[in-house]
Amino acid sequence: RPVTTAWAYHLDGFVPMAQATLPVTTQGLHYGTGVFEGIRAHVVPDRAELAVFRLHDHLARFERSCRLLRIDLPHDVDELAGIVVELLSRNGVVQDTYVRPLAYKHRLLPGTPPGVSLRGNSDGLSVIAFALGAYSPEGGVRCAISSWARPSARSIPVRAKATGAYLNNALAVDEARAAGYDDAILLNDRGRVAEASTANVFAVRGTALVTPPPDADILEGITRDTVRVLAADLGLEHVERDLQPADLLLADEVFLTGTGLGVTPVVELAGRPVGRGEPGPVTTELRRRYHDLVRGRDERHEHWLTRVPVP
Ligand code: PMP
Repeated sequence: RPVTTAWAYHLDGFVPMAQATLPVTTQGLHYGTGVFEGIRAHVVPDRAELAVFRLHDHLARFERSCRLLRIDLPHDVDELAGIVVELLSRNGVVQDTYVRPLAYKHRLLPGTPPGVSLRGNSDGLSVIAFALGAYSPEGGVRCAISSWARPSARSIPVRAKATGAYLNNALAVDEARAAGYDDAILLNDRGRVAEASTANVFAVRGTALVTPPPDADILEGITRDTVRVLAADLGLEHVERDLQPADLLLADEVFLTGTGLGVTPVVELAGRPVGRGEPGPVTTELRRRYHDLVRGRDERHEHWLTRVPVP
């Protein structure tokens, strides 16, 4: 269960978490005009240290999401990285942690009429953190195929992690859970596989990993990209192409990738077992390598880690 840490960065400085509050007039609350990131910091075994995974890549995506929503951040990516590092070291907890930068349309500027617009409001920035261990079940997850479609890039900028867009994801998760599943796979408006509620999806066929291309209206996940590199280390072929739901049903293995879930096997899809109905060998090996990598046990990819000593 996520527990927020003691400190937050809120608007223009560090405050105790209880003081990180916003008025109900905040525009982002009304129209979903905000953007966010999800970043993980993992405990490095035997050290009083956290390793933040691909911090700059996450913050660069955050900055791009902000630009799409005309949110002017008061900090560049390096300064944001400094805020995340300071937050983790102030909190002083050596525990797997999830960091959530959030930027939003905040207060109406003087003389501006209220309304649905990206202009006329000040921009707010908060960064909070939760203690959050790995929550991906070892035995894999069971997924529904959602009746909710992933919105197309014609309706919403799918590359941005925009808060308002996540209503779609929440509806899909709710529907899947009500039907007894753990998560949902969403199809795009062409009926091709897009992604899970907060993760990208891969199918394993023989020695190839197949994943939907960027123009399948996916979020281009950072874990997705990481798995591409790990797959190359393993000599697996990596293919981006459109997948039909039946391609997932017929795959040897299916797995999800995301900052929250890491690499998680899908063992059942729409009421059918995937492969043998248990985590397969390719997924299990990628999962193990990802696990080691984010905890600093893979020297080849050390450049992806920002190590934060925790006093
Ligand atoms: N798709 C969606 C909709 C997501 O929310 C996430 C989580 N950020 C992902 C994919 C996976 O992205 P990442 O690997 O960068 O966490």
